[in-house]
Amino acid sequence: MKDIDVIKTNSAFAGKEVTRIPVIVGDGIGPEIWVGSRPILDKAIKKTYAHRRIDWIEVLAGKNAYEKTGKWLPKETLDAIREDKVAIKGPLETPIGIGRRSLTVTMRQKFDLYACVRPVRYFEGVPSPLKEPEKTNMTIFRENTEDVYAGIEFAQGEEDTKKLIDYLQSFYDDDKFRFRNTTAIGIKPISKEGSLRLITAAIDYAIENNKESVTLVHKGNIMKFTEGGFEKWGYELAERKYGDKIFSMRTYRRLLKDGGRDVADQALKTAKKEGLVIIKDIIADNFLQQILLHPEKFDVIATTNLNGDYMSDALAAQVGGIGISPGANINYDTGYAIFEATHGTAPDIAGLGKANPCSFILSACMLLDYIGMPEASDLITTAIEEAFKEKKVTSDFASLMDDAQEVSTSEFCNIILEKI
Ligand code: NAD
Repeated sequence: MKDIDVIKTNSAFAGKEVTRIPVIVGDGIGPEIWVGSRPILDKAIKKTYAHRRIDWIEVLAGKNAYEKTGKWLPKETLDAIREDKVAIKGPLETPIGIGRRSLTVTMRQKFDLYACVRPVRYFEGVPSPLKEPEKTNMTIFRENTEDVYAGIEFAQGEEDTKKLIDYLQSFYDDDKFRFRNTTAIGIKPISKEGSLRLITAAIDYAIENNKESVTLVHKGNIMKFTEGGFEKWGYELAERKYGDKIFSMRTYRRLLKDGGRDVADQALKTAKKEGLVIIKDIIADNFLQQILLHPEKFDVIATTNLNGDYMSDALAAQVGGIGISPGANINYDTGYAIFEATHGTAPDIAGLGKANPCSFILSACMLLDYIGMPEASDLITTAIEEAFKEKKVTSDFASLMDDAQEVSTSEFCNIILEKI
């Protein structure tokens, strides 16, 4: 069963004989994962498409790039992605405290990759802290370009920060800054346009894949204009643009108020029976409870950047951790997309053959779906499912399982390769 949802194929790539894909191999565990993954991808493509192939073009970024070129993100790399439109990347090291922004965040912003798409599903046999991990099956659409990630920050003690604090305080009568002289400031921009394009991608995806619901996850009870705006604009968009394809819980609440519970319940029941996508919302902290208690209630998630960051990793942990969860950063309007392993460089295990390559391989499967090679993607996903069922796993999983056969990164990749 293939359960990593097929993301919409970009028609510009469908049927193309040779597709060039820039690959950022990455730092730390990146190289060992790429060496093991590449033959799997090539074999799956060869087996499923007689007249199509991918030319993988290795390009530099991160520490590896710095050591070879003196630049963390060379222009040639950005040019290659600009030209080929779709790329895949391994993890990149971000040195702490020297003022350089995360390269991953930089690339997302450079190509305006506004949707961070993370499918979260359970593979049978994978260790999970949940009793019924198979109930977790959802796709997160995280806004990728705004929020506190915009990098608008002012350090404590600096003159500009003091000026900004004075300016902001001038709008209020009560004291807004508890420790005025020692405060640092971060700005949280959330725009209507930025929110709408992300929520549109999530609703389109839900409709195309016959999903039951889209949940807007926000913290609008506290941040009324930013997170609250995200929720409000989302409902408005859903009702305005998708009228007869969706049923919104805002409509339910209106019916409840005007006609009573029976009327509202009946309308919701009818909408579900007719297969309409239910648009609902939930406060972020409650969401984090509910994904543990009732994960089956959620299908497609649309959320702001910081919420999405925390939630993606929490959900990944429910189904086996970041070693297995894939991700994509997509601009659905321009077609630019960077697929990426969601974990970091794992310096503690780099070079030891302990890395789980599944996050990277499954991200590559999303890429194959995106460029119109879903059969190759299916073949790989099925092979991974079989390996897990046979309990042949890398050490991150083996250490949590009683009767697993621990294999190295390259051995695991060879097992997948033989199954294709
Ligand atoms: P990390 O993801 O590298 O490691 C966290 C823990 O998970 C470690 O114990 C590691 O061994 C384990 N782990 C991670 N990936 C694994 C895999 N595939 N298989 C098995 N175990 C795995 O996070 P970190 O330690 O906070 O960060 C290390 C470096 O990676 C930092 O420089 C950070 O900036 C960078 N980073 C990059 C990205 C990215 O490029 N997208 C994401 C996160 C962190």
